[in-house]
Amino acid sequence: MNRAIFIDKDGCFIKNVPYNVDPDRIELNKGAAFFCKLIRACGFKMVLVTNQPGIALGYFSEADFRTAVTAIEKAAGAVFDSVFYCPHHPEGSVAPFNKSCSCRKPSPGMFLEAATAEQIRLKDSWMIGDILDDMEAGKRAGCRTILLDNGGETEWKMGPYRMPDFVVPDLFEATTIILKNIAYELFS
Ligand SMILES: [Mg+2]
Ligand SMILES: [Zn+2]
Repeated sequence: MNRAIFIDKDGCFIKNVPYNVDPDRIELNKGAAFFCKLIRACGFKMVLVTNQPGIALGYFSEADFRTAVTAIEKAAGAVFDSVFYCPHHPEGSVAPFNKSCSCRKPSPGMFLEAATAEQIRLKDSWMIGDILDDMEAGKRAGCRTILLDNGGETEWKMGPYRMPDFVVPDLFEATTIILKNIAYELFS
């Protein structure tokens, strides 16, 4: 079995530019490349989990999205082990994506799918994101959760699954939390 770090894309791995798929406007967030190196060194799978309602809304295509992911990987100097995205939105205009689904965060569908596809033990895995919907999705899947408190969350609607296990300012600190926990497991 594998363990994974699930990571959100917009506002977390990269700076949030709403609905952007233009590679020239993609900018990694502080600590993203460091995160990839250290997380890989510790043997975690790196799994991108991202809501992409822009596909259902007709703002861009799945191919555009994949091009953007390739640009992100190039910038980070690392390749994700897998990429899961929710292309749906109930108010979208593009069939067959204009519907409710079980993959759009805060639902845990993408995590459960990844766990089967990549043989991931969810309780030994982590979710890092910049909003509480990311925390809820990760927690519903059984992962530990880290919130980047960087301005992405604006509503702060709390609930039983939405309290992050850790709150940090950036990906450097998120990586440090995970490494500390690994060390703790090794020596306890
Ligand atoms: Mg985000
Ligand atoms: Zn979906």
